Amino acid sequence: MARIVMKFGGTSMAGIERIRHVAGLVKREAESGNQVAVVVSAMAGETDRLIQFCREASSLYDPREYDVVVASGEQVTSGLLAITLQGMGLNAKSYMGWQLPIRTSGHAAALIETIDAGVLERVFDEGGIAVIPGFQGVTDEGDVTTLGRGGSDTSAVALAAAVKADRCDIYTDVDGVYTTDPRIVPRARKLPIITFEEMLELASVGAKVLQTRSVGLAMRERMPIKVLSSFDDRPGTMVVGDEELERYGMERQLVTGIAYDKNEARITLTGLPDRPGTVAAIFSPLAEANVNVDMIVQNVKRAGEKSDLTFTVPTASLAHSVEALQKAREAIGFDEIVTDTNVVKVSAVGVGMRSNAGIAAQMFQALADRGINIIAITTSEIKVSVLIPEEYTELAVRVLHTSYGLDDTGAAG
Ligand code: ASP
Ligand code: MG
Repeated sequence: MARIVMKFGGTSMAGIERIRHVAGLVKREAESGNQVAVVVSAMAGETDRLIQFCREASSLYDPREYDVVVASGEQVTSGLLAITLQGMGLNAKSYMGWQLPIRTSGHAAALIETIDAGVLERVFDEGGIAVIPGFQGVTDEGDVTTLGRGGSDTSAVALAAAVKADRCDIYTDVDGVYTTDPRIVPRARKLPIITFEEMLELASVGAKVLQTRSVGLAMRERMPIKVLSSFDDRPGTMVVGDEELERYGMERQLVTGIAYDKNEARITLTGLPDRPGTVAAIFSPLAEANVNVDMIVQNVKRAGEKSDLTFTVPTASLAHSVEALQKAREAIGFDEIVTDTNVVKVSAVGVGMRSNAGIAAQMFQALADRGINIIAITTSEIKVSVLIPEEYTELAVRVLHTSYGLDDTGAAG
């Protein structure tokens, strides 16, 4: 017998037909002898609709009341799933965040502080199935909260950790995690297994399947996640700790996936004085303006000569960044600000890189062979990223996918 938290996303809960299908999956899991708790999202589109109502009511809406409104989407689906399960003869009951309770702090993007496992343990003992609305919690004062967009994934992982589940199964509308975006590379492969760290790197560079926060939490709690589709019966992707790979009989891949992120903008400052404090004078005002700087390249020719500095910021922060830099122009002493939003960050990710030199060199060569110019580079232990002109996105992703041997060759996988 295993203890499993099953989580169903918005598309899986969009309408009674789909909820009935979800109930069938829950029933199957329970009848195979497992203890099951279920976490649900609101119906697809519902949270957007509720947020829109808040905006229409007042552009300066109170976050406490926003939470009251948007938490309702999950309340509806958890009640409907419990009704449906009961109709199938199962002992199911819904429990709102405040009934467990899931204690959180803050509003609109609340953080989970503690979860009391007592109620759920009792339900497990009685052979029941608890259905819990994702996304919602309660403050010490008893106010309803929500965890921020996509927060149901985090609810599910946190609940799984609280009841010491064997696994957290996240059912979504894709059937797993792929080596890259299948819309760009039709020969992308579904990964049977991936590590938390790889998943975090892939998510942070634009491959969104799970909410990033939920993956970080699963990594800290060592909670294995299985990503699978509620729409077909194929095996999904396991997301596990690095040390677990061997237990699952998997080899460490050199490169696990290729991700791309078009949400980057380049800023270049020209004619910078070569003296201590220049770089600090640039990045302090950006930090104060809450801008997340990503890639940084500085180019010093000879000591004492003026130099250029290039870095990237999220596209949405570009205007803020330029404004902050213009204000600090005296202190920094640059000639010109050049910006470019037609850039993309392409990354190769894999835990096998740790013990293998040459992954970066292979990337640069593969891009050079196609005449793709590299504007900036960053690396971490398990990731190499390059910034290139946006028009080369598809070509670069395809070329790298092939170069690292990730293409599906038609064999089972
Ligand atoms: N319903 C919420 C949202 O759309 C939470 C979730 O589904 O994860 O963001
Ligand atoms: Mg989601």
